[in-house]
Amino acid sequence: MIAYPKNNEWLDWRWQFRNRVKGYHGLKGLIQIPREKEEAFKKLVSRYHFAATPYYLSLIDWDAPMDPIRSQCIPSLEEIEVNEAGSTEDPFLEEPFSPTPCLIHRYKDRALIISTGRCAVYCRHCNRKRNWGKTDVPTAVKREYREKAIKYISEHSEIREVILSGGDPLFMGDHLLEELLRSLREIAHVEVIRIGTRAPVTLPMRIDDSLSEMLSRFRPIWINTHFNHPREITNEAILAVERLITKGIPVSNQAVLLKGVNDDIEILETLFKKLQTIGVRPYYLFHCDPVKGTDHFRTPLSKGIEIMENLWGKIGGLCIPHYVVDLPDAGGKALLMPNYLIALDGGEAIFRTQNGKIIKYPYIEN
Ligand SMILES: *Cc1c(COP(=O)(O)O)cnc(C)c1O
Ligand code: SF4
Repeated sequence: MIAYPKNNEWLDWRWQFRNRVKGYHGLKGLIQIPREKEEAFKKLVSRYHFAATPYYLSLIDWDAPMDPIRSQCIPSLEEIEVNEAGSTEDPFLEEPFSPTPCLIHRYKDRALIISTGRCAVYCRHCNRKRNWGKTDVPTAVKREYREKAIKYISEHSEIREVILSGGDPLFMGDHLLEELLRSLREIAHVEVIRIGTRAPVTLPMRIDDSLSEMLSRFRPIWINTHFNHPREITNEAILAVERLITKGIPVSNQAVLLKGVNDDIEILETLFKKLQTIGVRPYYLFHCDPVKGTDHFRTPLSKGIEIMENLWGKIGGLCIPHYVVDLPDAGGKALLMPNYLIALDGGEAIFRTQNGKIIKYPYIEN
């Protein structure tokens, strides 16, 4: 266990949250904005919020213009200037799958609650950035919507897993979060609660003893977090994870494949191995979606497949996530795997190995 100094504001999550660097003025204090770009940056920050915790900013190497932490949290004009064909605000058509405000029910046995619009850090690659700062986006913070979502879930006995998403549910207020968890636990058919949060990465101090204790009272709870780069695995992050897993809350990771951040075999191999070492199961590697404002992060699909090909067999299966693409038009998630089966024919299957060898395998046809 890592020693955790006491009575230090830096380690107080409320201090970190209150002292976030925000808005155009905050940004101007961090980066050089040439006079002729001032208007463009103002427009950018008014369209897509900027806020980052002192902790997350402290991980940036300011001498490296393409620093992976910097790219994830410092606004770039590419967000409004790069526009690939086909990208839209909401390619997943989440909204039509919303039977009641703040609830998305796309898969039969799982429902997702948009708990809040708040996050500790606004990630530049976020696929829900269309919602940032909009006051009309329904979230579970509003009592009426919260109650409607709970009612819908309680009337749909096929829902066995409820996912709290957002925004970041850990920033909706302790009291509200606890109330939401309690209402969900009162529904007998809800077997599992999942919380999607980037707090272990962007504000790990948030996962303190009292929060982990509160969460553990509503188990089974699964936490899905979002580490994208090995440099995000700091001592503070390791401690946050340790607090959760020692309270019986498993932690998994959903990374996003991002150009210039982690679209590299060695970086991802290191990330996934480190995650396994700290007790976090790599669950998904998401392809970066065609969402407006994130086009500069998108890689070809072949990049992700190449990375998966290289990892499979090289590192243990527990370090390897599923590479998935969220399909537009409410198609759901599609799994992309290197394919090792070449042909199936008359009782003989033909496989290729990771080293490119061809191997025949007898199989029974029926
Ligand atoms: C991704 C997602 C889920 C969860 O899917 P899993 O494959 O179980 O992780 C549930 N609901 C919605 C709307 C989603 O986008
Ligand atoms: S923490 Fe998650 S929801 Fe919030 S900005 Fe980052 S990716 Fe988006």
